[in-house]
Amino acid sequence: MNDGTRTAGVHYDAEYEKHDTGPYHPESAQRYRALKSALEDLPPEFIRLPGRRASAAEILLAHEHYYHDLVYRDVESFAHQLRTGDTAICEESYDVTLEATGGVLASVDAVMRGDVSSAFCAVRPPGHHATATRGMGFCIFNHVAIAARYLQSRHGLQRVAIIDWDVHHGNGTEAIFIEDPSVLYISLHENGIYPHTGAATERGQGAGEGANLNIPLPGNSDGDTALRAWDEQIPPAIDAFQPDFLLISAGFDAREGDPVGGLRWTDETFAEMTRRCVAMAEKHCGGKIVSVLEGGYNPAGLASAAVAHVRAL
Ligand SMILES: [Zn+2]
Repeated sequence: MNDGTRTAGVHYDAEYEKHDTGPYHPESAQRYRALKSALEDLPPEFIRLPGRRASAAEILLAHEHYYHDLVYRDVESFAHQLRTGDTAICEESYDVTLEATGGVLASVDAVMRGDVSSAFCAVRPPGHHATATRGMGFCIFNHVAIAARYLQSRHGLQRVAIIDWDVHHGNGTEAIFIEDPSVLYISLHENGIYPHTGAATERGQGAGEGANLNIPLPGNSDGDTALRAWDEQIPPAIDAFQPDFLLISAGFDAREGDPVGGLRWTDETFAEMTRRCVAMAEKHCGGKIVSVLEGGYNPAGLASAAVAHVRAL
């Protein structure tokens, strides 16, 4: 929390350790364990938020029925990979990902009730690469995309903004909302890496023209470069859109020392971005923010950056 009027919640749950991706996988349970012990050390004014299991109907807010069923069947058949590609699964993965989505939705409810101003959800597996019909990039169901649709259908909000600062472009989130003018998707990401989407020229399609903003950053660039690009492009986009709620796809793989990402952001970069998000949310939507863990593959760096983020929420 950044002053006496904001309260921040944190959501984490031992369920998220049960998604077993096998040895040597960067998206490992060790990430969760490092993060959990860091979040447990936060002072008591950071309120721990309980989760719940998402329903299949909630998953269908952002995914096709057949893809939901495909995930269920792949897990039931003890497959080690989702058949849609590069996503390790185990026999617990369907249940864990429903808990992860449900944890995000429960946190959204807590913010909408006013229990907390904002919340950070330390969930696994991540979600932003999952499209309506395909899991990929370690992602099964797209928690943030589901949360955006849930805010509209369950809470009656009109416009939801998503800021995604994971080092990778959130191709799944972009694709789900590419023709939707009611969800503004903004991504800062390293140029030229997986999943090789996220060109600055992609501004949305059809009715969604203008509701998509990609900010590719040069490899090996630092946090100041990112913050300069942020200040030029993001506040005007948010001011024009006037969101009713702000969601963050909070990956921490742009941090220095991450074995996957190639940027050099620091904990202070994430704190600065968070303060900017709080200021924009205070201006437009009563300060309401839910932030959801995406990537971040150096467990100690992930924990340190996420704590800097949560302390600024
Ligand atoms: Zn990532």
